[in-house]
Amino acid sequence: MTILVYAESWDGKFKKSSFEAVDYAAKLAKQMGAETTALTISAKEDVSQLGKYGAQSVRTINNQALETFNNQSYADAIIAVANKINADTVIISNTSNGKAIAPLIAAKRKAALITNVIELPESVSPFTIVRKTFSSKAIARYQTLSDKKVISITANSFEYNEREQLATSEAFDYVPEDAVQKLTSISINKATGKIGLTEADLVVSAGRGLKGPENWTMVEELAEVLGAATACSKPVSDIGWRPHSEHVGQTGIAINPQLYIAIGISGAIQHLAGVNASKNIVVINTDPDAPFFKAADYGIVGDAFEVLPKLISAIKSYKAVI
Ligand SMILES: Cc1cc2nc3c(=O)[nH]c(=O)nc-3n(C[C@H](O)[C@H](O)[C@H](O)COP(=O)(O)OP(=O)(O)OC[C@H]3O[C@@H](n4cnc5c(N)ncnc54)[C@H](O)[C@@H]3O)c2cc1C
Repeated sequence: MTILVYAESWDGKFKKSSFEAVDYAAKLAKQMGAETTALTISAKEDVSQLGKYGAQSVRTINNQALETFNNQSYADAIIAVANKINADTVIISNTSNGKAIAPLIAAKRKAALITNVIELPESVSPFTIVRKTFSSKAIARYQTLSDKKVISITANSFEYNEREQLATSEAFDYVPEDAVQKLTSISINKATGKIGLTEADLVVSAGRGLKGPENWTMVEELAEVLGAATACSKPVSDIGWRPHSEHVGQTGIAINPQLYIAIGISGAIQHLAGVNASKNIVVINTDPDAPFFKAADYGIVGDAFEVLPKLISAIKSYKAVI
């Protein structure tokens, strides 16, 4: 029995979420008495490093037509490999690309699809597993009797371990079937943030309480001293103070970092929907009745323009002595 895990790469480089997915697949394989094969598409890095996260072997696909992401061709490529190696279970990271391909693979393979998974299965027979649901407000326990499964993993849900092993690699000759793609990506605007939001352990986020884009220097400075990614509320990106790639919430990116610092954000339900899975939430707001305080682990009732400079200075002093 073999489990196939798709190790997503971005500009040819692996993401942290790919290592999490490979590690998850390896641990699941152990539970199921299976082998772990990773698949890379257009990866430019040394694929043998996936062995460190538990892959025994790696199949690599390099084809000019797959240099940029295309959900249909990528799904077909993953299916081709899964069929070739007789992998019943396919593991994918629940990134935006992962969300676009997991349902296609499940539909075409007539497999059970379980998304947003946050733990290893409680039992492999019958296969019973826990996933997040209702914008992370609830946990659902799913059971499937299907041999074929597609499981997508929520980033930042698992700790992954490094092992002292490298994987063997083998090229997989795959040519997308459709000469004319049904969907073509014609331009890509890359987010400028240094740390990817979905993978960040620490996130500093700000809202309309910051009054204007010129005041984001202190948000960026706080993020810089903490080594955090920056995020914002929807109205802030709608009015162009910050790029849309930073918008978190129900209609934006859903994140689950170790620490989420919300500055001048009211805590509307649509905002909370994307951030309430954060392990620790710190809220800074002038209004003691701001709804966000109900979801906060720690709260500072205060003016961001006074609190942030003090916080930055305190963190710098602390870092200077450790
Ligand atoms: C269908 C739908 C989907 C939506 N999706 C999203 C989404 O994905 N993400 C999202 O964020 N929103 C979303 N919204 C919008 C959401 O309802 C709120 O309007 C929005 O989150 C409010 O943004 P805000 O907290 O930045 O601004 P405001 O609501 O204006 O809040 C500003 C906060 O800053 C505080 N403040 C003011 N001055 C200071 C200061 N000097 N220091 C500290 N605090 C200060 C105020 O007390 C207030 O709490 C959605 C709405 C709808 C209808």
